Amino acid sequence: MSDLDSFRSETRAWLEAHCPPEMRAPMKDESDACWGGRNPVFKSDAQKQWMDAMAARGWTVPDWPKDYGGGGLSPAETKILRQEMAAIGARNPLMSFGISMLGPALLKYGNEGQKKRFLTQIARGEIRWCQGYSEPGAGSDLASLQTKCEDKGDHWLVNGQKVWTSYADKADWIFCLVRTDPAAPKHKGISFLLFDMASPGVSTKPILLISGNSPFCETFFDDVAVPKEQLVGEVGKGWDVAKYLLGHEREMISGMGLGGGGGESLGAALGDRLREDPLLRADVARFDVDAIAFRAMSERFIDELKAGQAHPAQPSMMKYAGTELNKARHELAMAAGGSAALEWDSDRSKGGKAPREWLRTKANSIEGGTSEIQLGIIAKHILQLPGA
Ligand SMILES: Cc1cc2nc3c(=O)[nH]c(=O)nc-3n(C[C@H](O)[C@H](O)[C@H](O)COP(=O)(O)OP(=O)(O)OC[C@H]3O[C@@H](n4cnc5c(N)ncnc54)[C@H](O)[C@@H]3O)c2cc1C
Repeated sequence: MSDLDSFRSETRAWLEAHCPPEMRAPMKDESDACWGGRNPVFKSDAQKQWMDAMAARGWTVPDWPKDYGGGGLSPAETKILRQEMAAIGARNPLMSFGISMLGPALLKYGNEGQKKRFLTQIARGEIRWCQGYSEPGAGSDLASLQTKCEDKGDHWLVNGQKVWTSYADKADWIFCLVRTDPAAPKHKGISFLLFDMASPGVSTKPILLISGNSPFCETFFDDVAVPKEQLVGEVGKGWDVAKYLLGHEREMISGMGLGGGGGESLGAALGDRLREDPLLRADVARFDVDAIAFRAMSERFIDELKAGQAHPAQPSMMKYAGTELNKARHELAMAAGGSAALEWDSDRSKGGKAPREWLRTKANSIEGGTSEIQLGIIAKHILQLPGA
């Protein structure tokens, strides 16, 4: 048996022993996700048991170094773990912007103290993070952000406003882009700061959406004092950290294109509902072919990324393709459901609220940077235009 074969059989046995049966079913909605945090909410004992077991083994972040709470697995071992989890339908034990966004940026740009402190807390699910990038005057043109950060000698002083801050009202800490030098060219006066959402002067106001939920907020900073050591990277070089983090965010969002990871075709999921309508059946068949192509592309891109051979346009290509695919999936499911699918509180046969999910997908091609912006980035890198 090769080392990887033994790793696979040990992993399979460990998962069999430690993943509770309740955690082997797809999540029905967002309330099934475990977000951790200072005051974690667990929907069931099984959910807590699963999160604790995975965190104790470092498998909430299997490929991070053991020194920072990770599992220390190689890319090949990490892939095996993901395959074995998928084989038994095991849920992701911990949803976390810390894992999918901040962690990779800290691994590259954080100092040793920041890595030891924050990465281990992220791995154990002890801090829930939110992302303070967008502002009322800075979305696609993010580098126009104006949140002011002044050097007060022994601390930073932050004043300004963020918008669309997902789960800001539930988060413990924020990773935030601030302007430390208003006189510098706009990309050069930005810094990357971490601070506690319980700091005096931080307040949030939830925004209500058409889906009926309020997943994000306006976030206000009014004379917020931040310890000096919580700035990541160099003063004025936050744009590099911001862009690196966005690449990871875009890859995370692109996962929506996989449709929950089970690999079931949409045609199979919609079943009888397609029998009466050959045109819809043809559209669904076309979609299923695109979904297979996307899955293959994702696998290849992730392998290239782990091998350090990723093309700079890759995260934008995956984000664009994955989110457009996810929107198409829900459009087709709604079309197949007919007028009955419009019923606001109806359950689909697979579970979940069809029209709410459908409306939520409209945001996929906006969050993390719009589709138009991704196409611009792809064009810039492929055509080698200035600024690529
Ligand atoms: C569900 C969701 C969650 C989010 N969560 C967060 C979060 O946690 N933290 C955070 O900081 N932000 C968050 N955002 C904000 C998100 O990053 C911005 O909405 C996004 O970057 C677009 O910015 P904007 O809304 O200001 O739109 P605008 O930038 O005003 O764009 C408006 C339209 O103009 C188009 N456009 C703009 N510039 C160009 C261009 N150069 N070329 C072609 N077309 C262009 C856009 O594509 C878009 O269609 C979230 C957004 C959503 C929808």
